[in-house]
Amino acid sequence: MPATPAAGPRLPDTATLRARAATALRRCGIDLEAHTAPPAHEGDTLPARTPLTGGTLAHLPATTPEQADAAIAEAHRTFQEWRTVPAPRRGALVKRLGELLTAHREELADLVTIEAGKIRSEALGEVQEMIDICDFAVGLSRQLYGRTIAGERPGHRLSESWHPLGVVGVISAFNFPVAVWSWNTAVALVCGDTVVWKPSELTPLTALACDGLLARAAAEVGAPAGVHRLLLGARACGERLVDDPRVALVSATGSVRMGQLVAPRVAARFGRCLLELGGNNAAVVTPSADLDLAVRGIVFSAAGTAGQRCTTLRRLIVHEDVADGLVERIVQAYGQLPLGDPFDASTLVGPLISTAAHTAMSDALAAAQQAGGKLLTGGERCYEAQAPDAAYVRPAIVRMPEQTEIVRTETFAPVLYVLTYRTLDEAIALHNGVPQGLSSSIFTRDQREAERFLAADGSDCGIANVNIGTSGAEIGGAFGGEKETGGGRESGSDAWRAYMRRATNTVNYSADLPLAQGVNFL
Ligand code: NAD
Repeated sequence: MPATPAAGPRLPDTATLRARAATALRRCGIDLEAHTAPPAHEGDTLPARTPLTGGTLAHLPATTPEQADAAIAEAHRTFQEWRTVPAPRRGALVKRLGELLTAHREELADLVTIEAGKIRSEALGEVQEMIDICDFAVGLSRQLYGRTIAGERPGHRLSESWHPLGVVGVISAFNFPVAVWSWNTAVALVCGDTVVWKPSELTPLTALACDGLLARAAAEVGAPAGVHRLLLGARACGERLVDDPRVALVSATGSVRMGQLVAPRVAARFGRCLLELGGNNAAVVTPSADLDLAVRGIVFSAAGTAGQRCTTLRRLIVHEDVADGLVERIVQAYGQLPLGDPFDASTLVGPLISTAAHTAMSDALAAAQQAGGKLLTGGERCYEAQAPDAAYVRPAIVRMPEQTEIVRTETFAPVLYVLTYRTLDEAIALHNGVPQGLSSSIFTRDQREAERFLAADGSDCGIANVNIGTSGAEIGGAFGGEKETGGGRESGSDAWRAYMRRATNTVNYSADLPLAQGVNFL
């Protein structure tokens, strides 16, 4: 196990981060001072914090219930107009947004690092994901196709058309503070919907920057300002979107627990829900795998983003013939992962979002060891003297005798459980034997094994990969998962359909009135 260094790397201080956040915001057109609650402010305030130090950057006025109601009302009013704007013209708004995001890539990445703790290249990657989905949505704005269907009656034409749905309420999680917003917003806007966004209470500054850039894009292309509204606050703020019948679709990303609360409430008012919830992702490594490639894919998926992606690799299911050698190499690679300031170009693992996340990780490690697991590396908190309110934690690996309850639970931290198997059937049973169903992968050079993993009786996840890890999806595919992950699909492919309503149209251009199924009447 690597020893905790007595003195850690140089970590940034809260004052420096506050200044850097204010500069990034200013360049995005947002004056942080103007968004900071004055001392006499009477409503709730929302602290903006940084996991790099655990310090507070600002206190923002939280959205009041009256303001949330007004925001939803405005988005609803604007929808009546926006839905009639031709889709390619709606695309012009998203095109401009993509240009502004490109121009402010660095500043947005700064904010992602400051609020979510992502290392520089991952923060830039997240911003790139926003730019990519804007490109995708602009193309989509000319491709919202319906079908023409072969009807059974002569002189009739049967077809489908797709129409804007209404206000989309976007509730997002802390760990993808901007990408998830953009997947929803870019697509919803070209589909003719308006958006009300409730970002994570942990990342309000990043949200202010995105909202500001979209407002600027709207002003520049002559789109109504009410196409997008921002609600800043915690759970109660999200509940306003959940319960308001003017919100046609609630697209909610977060924990399974959140989805369990949100889904029945939206269903009770017959609203639509798109859920992107927790994952407990696994990779199967077979004896034929290219182990060099597997080690790299596994380490990135398991320890990257400090284990705080919904697609993070949490379970490694290795054939027993290659398990010892592979695990030894992964443990070795973990020992060389630089942990520290995410702004430092050499850092590969930044801080967890909070010290509470480290407590949850320690509890999981204790439960795993109590169930017979052997901790091979990691779990210790570093640099406590320098940053007592932050959680810089070494990613952990635990070898488990079996898939116990704790292995079946998503702990949102870098814990990789290792399990072994003898037959591929056994591996797939272990793989699918958890309540979540987001991402999965197999490392193999045997085509039979790869195809079996992708087949109907293989991986039961929404994402199934071969010879790459579980994380790092491209925007072109539909993103989402099955079972407790919630069943939603966002981003590419035909995920846009969730943001529109379908009408089936039958047009009779004949002088007769034949009835379907040969029914005679009059
Ligand atoms: P969280 O569930 O604590 O919060 C997510 C969002 O939901 C926040 O904006 C929060 O304020 C809001 N919220 C919570 N309870 C609510 C309620 N009852 N009604 C309305 N809104 C409510 O999640 P988190 O800690 O921010 O993020 C980590 C979790 O998100 C992990 O479980 C991770 O797997 C999941 N996640 C999933 C995906 C995906 O695409 N499947 C993507 C990112 C994160």
